Amino acid sequence: GSADVEYDLVVLGAGPGGYSAAFRAADLGLKTAIIERYASLGGVCLNVGCIPSKALLHVAAVIEEAEHVDTAGIKFAKPTVDVDALRKHKDGVIGKLTGGLAGMAKARKVDVIRGYGHFLDPHHLEVEETTGTSQDKTGAKKVVKFKQCIIAAGSAAVHLPFIPKDPRIVDSTGALELRQVPGKMLVIGGGIIGLEMATVYSTLGARIDVVEMMDGLMQGPDRDAVKVWEKQNAHRFDNIMLKTKTVAVEAKEDGLWVKFEGDKAPAEPVRYDMILQSAGRAPNGKKIGADKAGVIVGERGFIPVDAQMRTNVPHIFAIGDIVGQPMLAHKAVHEAHVAAEVAAGHKAAFDATVIPGVAYTHPEVAWVGYTEAQAKAEGKKVETAKFPWAASGRAIANGADYGFTKLIFDAETHRVIGGTIVGPSAGDMIGEVCLAIEMGADAVDIGKTIHPHPTLGETVGMAAEVAHGSCTDLP
Ligand code: FAD
Repeated sequence: GSADVEYDLVVLGAGPGGYSAAFRAADLGLKTAIIERYASLGGVCLNVGCIPSKALLHVAAVIEEAEHVDTAGIKFAKPTVDVDALRKHKDGVIGKLTGGLAGMAKARKVDVIRGYGHFLDPHHLEVEETTGTSQDKTGAKKVVKFKQCIIAAGSAAVHLPFIPKDPRIVDSTGALELRQVPGKMLVIGGGIIGLEMATVYSTLGARIDVVEMMDGLMQGPDRDAVKVWEKQNAHRFDNIMLKTKTVAVEAKEDGLWVKFEGDKAPAEPVRYDMILQSAGRAPNGKKIGADKAGVIVGERGFIPVDAQMRTNVPHIFAIGDIVGQPMLAHKAVHEAHVAAEVAAGHKAAFDATVIPGVAYTHPEVAWVGYTEAQAKAEGKKVETAKFPWAASGRAIANGADYGFTKLIFDAETHRVIGGTIVGPSAGDMIGEVCLAIEMGADAVDIGKTIHPHPTLGETVGMAAEVAHGSCTDLP
């Protein structure tokens, strides 16, 4: 067919997966374009995900720290919250990053084609131009020809079918718009996104209920860490309803009336001022005409790929949220580099042993690799070393003596195979455990590494020393 433009590589979607793939491919010499329906690059992560949520969580942390120093003899007045100014601050943080990305695309001569892309055949995408800050279609169309393509079209929040459309009912994108701080808010889904938003809204003054179908909040980390988290966060919540479902929502003038079913379900409908739907995200695999290119899409919308990130069609790759769990930005970026390098003819494959997870709540919970429970379920023999922060000088000085650092070692090799940290900056510290796992480090390697004192990070070394002491056959 006739194409308006032609590229070595076209990347569909400009999230952390898409822009990382495009930049790496351009650096390796491929003539590259990105197709993106939104006005700015950065996808969910920069525009309505990781970054805006962290901008708001930082502000919440400052407010809470200020409240905590009253036991140290310092009293601040109750903060006044200007929601409009806070929203502007958050948008400013996003703007700096998306502006930076646009500059980086330009510097690498990566073309950005604005619009909604879908496949016509295995070598062509049609792009329906979009405009403004929204995704309004202008009617203009363009056919883009590619030698190779990387699908990085991401995921979208799941909307429960029985929940009505109402401005008081939002998903994470709506919550991050920060239109109001409600009196009473229901968070549907006790995963990381829901709990991060609960942290922000409760610090700004909302009372929060959480409803979760499973028997615990945050599915990933060690249950001991979640217990610590729950104790530190009890003040935010009126009601945490585990093993409970939301079954009906009625939007009335006086509020949103919600019916629940399950273990902790209140008998009568409960009234809320705002509802956040954070019951998971679904991949966008079925929205891009993949069948026209012959690309197989799974039943739930995920696109199967091999270790080189190739779909069943060898010159079409897929990366990021659209290929599977965990739906995290750092996983998308890693996969992006693999796909771009393979597309440029280099030898590369996805070979990561572990992918860390972090809840950027207060305190943070960070984990990687095996938990004790997972090891037990697999019949793997492990040694567990837990270092309570009550024995860390820095943690006590910082008012964080409730935290802990736990490492999981293979009982035979003494190599570290997992770790969980709960406490401030846990997410920044888990990187050391990731590196240790990837390098095959054992308890002695970590324990004998000199960590700076006094830091929260030295608790990783101290946990390893706990294990080291319990190992008899080490050099
Ligand atoms: P996305 O970021 O979803 O990007 C896909 C892009 O493709 C979008 O820009 C979309 O507009 C575009 N697109 C889709 N279809 C088309 C089409 N047909 N034509 C043109 N363009 C299209 N992850 C973390 O690691 N850390 C965090 O702290 C974190 N916090 C989060 C907080 C929230 C509230 C949310 C919602 C998510 C968070 N995530 C976090 C997850 C993270 O945002 C995603 O894992 C990441 O954005 C996935 O990147 P991606 O490149 O696969 O896709």
